[in-house]
Amino acid sequence: MFKASYNRALVRMELTTVTPLSIRAGDIGLDPAGCELVCIRTRHALHGRTVFVPGSSLKGVLRSTIEAQLRSTTDATGACDPLGSNPCGKRSKDLAKDNNGPAVHQHSCLACRMFGSTTLKGRCSVRDEFPFHSATGDLTEEEHRNLTAANTVEIRPGVAIDRLSGSVKGGAVFEQEMVPAGVSFWGDAALENFQAWQLGLLFGALRELDEGYAQLGSGKTKGLGVVRARVLSLLMEQKPEGNEPVRPKGVGHLIGAKEATDYGLLPEHELPESAGVRHGIMDRFVISPESVGVWEEATARAVAAATTGVKL
Ligand SMILES: [Zn+2]
Repeated sequence: MFKASYNRALVRMELTTVTPLSIRAGDIGLDPAGCELVCIRTRHALHGRTVFVPGSSLKGVLRSTIEAQLRSTTDATGACDPLGSNPCGKRSKDLAKDNNGPAVHQHSCLACRMFGSTTLKGRCSVRDEFPFHSATGDLTEEEHRNLTAANTVEIRPGVAIDRLSGSVKGGAVFEQEMVPAGVSFWGDAALENFQAWQLGLLFGALRELDEGYAQLGSGKTKGLGVVRARVLSLLMEQKPEGNEPVRPKGVGHLIGAKEATDYGLLPEHELPESAGVRHGIMDRFVISPESVGVWEEATARAVAAATTGVKL
């Protein structure tokens, strides 16, 4: 969708574990004395081997949260079932074969428009979250402490319960690694060529996480993976429309009316006034933490409009 870049936003966030977090690695490693269920780790070139929150895990939680929200307020045009018999990717296969990008977009549900399908590139990408701010350069003392705390994993024993007798099945005990409570992770989510409602859905999903209605990782029913999710800042850029930066706009206000109709964009909503500066070939708007609330309110109104009586 859209061969040019009209606008983009970078949401910087902080996730702090309220209960232990277990995002499992696919394999158990080679250590014979190691746990059966280990946390996923990566090797950061500057800061070494560490636990982290993979962008794919967080994106999966954000997508399923948004899908649930859309399904409760709209019909199937709000969110298809990607694993069901007739998801958007399957329905628009022929359109995609004909390279008819606008029609594929027009016939995709709101969730697929945001996160993509097998025939449509998503607008939203989520990056890995690390237990330090600085991807480059030295860590502060606080970051060092946080990195050490995150990697001081807890090991909890678990048991398999025999469903008939209700007792421990054959004495089976397994060990599970967990990132402890009280540890922070930092990272970004990015949106490109987005409408106001898409930024609103992203904010809404982060709020669901923050309030504990959505959790990260495994063991959710056992209370694991509750996090506080805080939006630290918002950076937005858009294609200039004159000599001086104008107000920030959703993509529906930046492309022509014909293209908006071809792609089946929803009616666009206004974003809050913000002072911008020319930055390279784009106009840049840096939204401070104090002003993020105004953006959350404005984009929540766009979500409300998009999810009431939406016709695609
Ligand atoms: Zn869909």
